[in-house]
Amino acid sequence: MKTKIITFLLALIVFTTTANAQETEATRLLQEQNKEFVPKIFKFGENVHFAVGYDVSNIAMIEGETGIILIDAGMSPVRMETLRLKFREITDKPIKGIIITHGHGDHFGGIQAFLDEGSNPQVWGRSGALGNNVGFNIEENAGKSAGLTYQNNRGARQAGVILPDSIHINNGIAPRPNKQNTMFNRKKGQAEFEPTHFFSGERRQINIDGINFDLVAASGETYDNMYVWMPDQKILFCGDTYYKSFPNLYTIRGSQYRDVKSWYESLDKMQNENAEYLLPGHTRPVIGKDKVKETLSNYSDAIKFVFDKTIEGMNKGMTPDQLVEYVKLPEHLATFPYLVEYYGRVDWAVRSIFEGYLGWFDGNPVNLNKLLPTDEAEKMAIMAGGLDKLRANALKAFKDEDFQWAAQLSDYLLALNNDDKEIINLKADALMEIAKTMVTATGRNYMNSYAIQLKEKVGE
Ligand SMILES: [Zn+2]
Repeated sequence: MKTKIITFLLALIVFTTTANAQETEATRLLQEQNKEFVPKIFKFGENVHFAVGYDVSNIAMIEGETGIILIDAGMSPVRMETLRLKFREITDKPIKGIIITHGHGDHFGGIQAFLDEGSNPQVWGRSGALGNNVGFNIEENAGKSAGLTYQNNRGARQAGVILPDSIHINNGIAPRPNKQNTMFNRKKGQAEFEPTHFFSGERRQINIDGINFDLVAASGETYDNMYVWMPDQKILFCGDTYYKSFPNLYTIRGSQYRDVKSWYESLDKMQNENAEYLLPGHTRPVIGKDKVKETLSNYSDAIKFVFDKTIEGMNKGMTPDQLVEYVKLPEHLATFPYLVEYYGRVDWAVRSIFEGYLGWFDGNPVNLNKLLPTDEAEKMAIMAGGLDKLRANALKAFKDEDFQWAAQLSDYLLALNNDDKEIINLKADALMEIAKTMVTATGRNYMNSYAIQLKEKVGE
């Protein structure tokens, strides 16, 4: 009897340790990533100041002959007002120019705080093209012109807007929002924003207030992405083409296809500049010519590997489900700290590449006439030996910590009864358990947000 109790206690210790370790490893990694967002204004050379951690994205201030030039303008006018005052401790020269690396709200949403100074700066953006949509911020404009709005709900889940402090670590490449001084404040400016100056084509050299900049087309995360090269200082501002995470080649909030091939080609172009400083749109700078080259080279290799391997598998007739088994980032790349899946995920990228080129049909004709969810659920219930047995299986899966299966079985049960309070809770709890083991903050936040919304639905 004594031996039995000891064995039981030992088993309990091992079980608890494993469960905690599993949770702790993903959580620990994400918490470690928070170091990237500690506010700091770096200084490079005599005249380049680079603010990290003041908002969702990074902002540069460059001192020119008589004024200053900004690269990117953050997301929140409230946060940018704080940073503007910080910049004003360094210099009171007027803002002559603002260059926006790409049309995502986290890079231009805070611009009003700077425009309110009234110095009428020239504001540069790249005019890109996506089908019939040409210009700046074209992905969002394409959605808008189609009347699409739901991506905003998905985006809020991915960003963890409703999450309590206890389960929201960060957004992978950005700090978690501060509820008092929200990152998501869009009260001024954002919706109406358009650059005053556009660049199109491959490369354009401009001079603002005595400072030379090369604006270079670099599609990837968006079709209007550019990088900004300062040839005299050897500083490269890459927007979101590089940051310290496996890149978000697909965003789970949903968007048009992100051109994965262009993304690694943009990185190759950046490599050829031989920059000494790589200043990304998110996370901390990469410093030193060799370090920059090595980082850009590995980053490009990782994306190219995923792309090429996916195409190779597609040419063998593989479906997206088969491809995610087939395409694994090689160990020598996966272990670089800047290729950890904090923000983007390899398997989601694989599915996106498939869909980007071949659309939704996976090639298996069984899926041309799929059963409706209710029909499939009815058949599953019969196969399980009745609805009660199906329910018992779902509850058991949760108890056995097979959380994904518990969630999938919950979906069958909910297809048959969408108001089943116990199963809604079960699904929510399963999602929250899975979230604990996810290092990819976008997915983790999405799961937790969705779970909380499920619980709200049943009044918990
Ligand atoms: Zn960004």
